[in-house]
Amino acid sequence: MIPIAKPYITEEEAQAAYDTILTGWITQGPKVAEFEEKFTKYTGAKHAVAVSNCTTALHLSMIVAGVKAGDEVICPSMSYIATANCIKYVGATPVFAEVKEDYNIDIEDVRKKITSKTKAILIVHQIGMPADIDAFTHLCKENNLILIEDAACAIGSSYKGKKIGSHSDLVCFSFHPRKVISTGDGGMVTSTNQAFADRMKILRQHGMSVSDRVRHQSSNIIFEDHLEIGFNYRMTDIQASVGIKQLEKLDWIVEERRKIAQKYLEGLKNIDCIRLPFEKEDKFYNVQSFSIYLKENCSIERNDLMQALLDRGISSRRGIMTTHRETAYNSENYFLPISEDLADRSIILPLYVPMNDEDVEFIIENLISLLK
Ligand SMILES: *Cc1c(COP(=O)(O)O)cnc(C)c1O
Repeated sequence: MIPIAKPYITEEEAQAAYDTILTGWITQGPKVAEFEEKFTKYTGAKHAVAVSNCTTALHLSMIVAGVKAGDEVICPSMSYIATANCIKYVGATPVFAEVKEDYNIDIEDVRKKITSKTKAILIVHQIGMPADIDAFTHLCKENNLILIEDAACAIGSSYKGKKIGSHSDLVCFSFHPRKVISTGDGGMVTSTNQAFADRMKILRQHGMSVSDRVRHQSSNIIFEDHLEIGFNYRMTDIQASVGIKQLEKLDWIVEERRKIAQKYLEGLKNIDCIRLPFEKEDKFYNVQSFSIYLKENCSIERNDLMQALLDRGISSRRGIMTTHRETAYNSENYFLPISEDLADRSIILPLYVPMNDEDVEFIIENLISLLK
């Protein structure tokens, strides 16, 4: 059976976790600080704040952006449900905008949905493909809104020659095993805004004014104060030590993923009933997922194709979900035909490192025979 995804984790990560465990410092401490420092260097961001996952990264971003009950935040419905959930956590309302063929949010639809209640725009770099950050930065400036990037899938991708994470005030990453690098679970917020970063560092550990690490290193007694109602959204040093090793491999992993994507693009290019992912100029794509869209002229239904692939030992997944059709949201009224069509007609193909050439060939051959 060919799986859909697999994290690239080696002895080195296992050894790093082992070594950290034996230091006795296993929750947020020096390794988290080192991971943050290396993450800022990698992305070119000014600040980085490590947290427990991308969902908590997004939640803290909503708080420091000042999003509150009664506010609206525009985001795509077509995303993992955590994108919209973090808006609900602060009592605000997600307003869903449509996406375009590359699965990224459509700025023209966003523009139409801005109201006097809109506080922020939450864009998603879907399947790792960068959204048009400059256009959204401009739109936000024009309308006095805050831009938040859900970059859960986009570590290692670039926009206009600069790594995702370096462009704006709130960029949220995930280290879940389905993403390009993993710490088991884990997340990071990068920021160009010192005040935002400082406040998130306080919020992630119960609102505490001094960290455990600072207390531990101090030669004078210090008492902490709890400055506001915070959370326990800490990353552990065990996770961070794995993250440091993963970060060293990231560019290589992305290159390998791109080579596999190239084989798919080459092998599938003559199937005229599918649309393949495409990279526009100024965008560098980490291929977090490789998604194909089945056009109207396909002789086989999406779900039948997925079953036929599974019968041949090939896992696949439906494309990105639409949040508004999940039970948790479907009592509300939305009209998003483009998102629904894209979600219903796309398939994510297996892609991981290392992946055998024969497996890629086998998948291509099967798709050619099933889609002819
Ligand atoms: C995976 C994902 C998340 C959630 O990340 P976690 O680290 O699992 O919390 C949020 N948004 C998008 C777009 C994702 O793909």
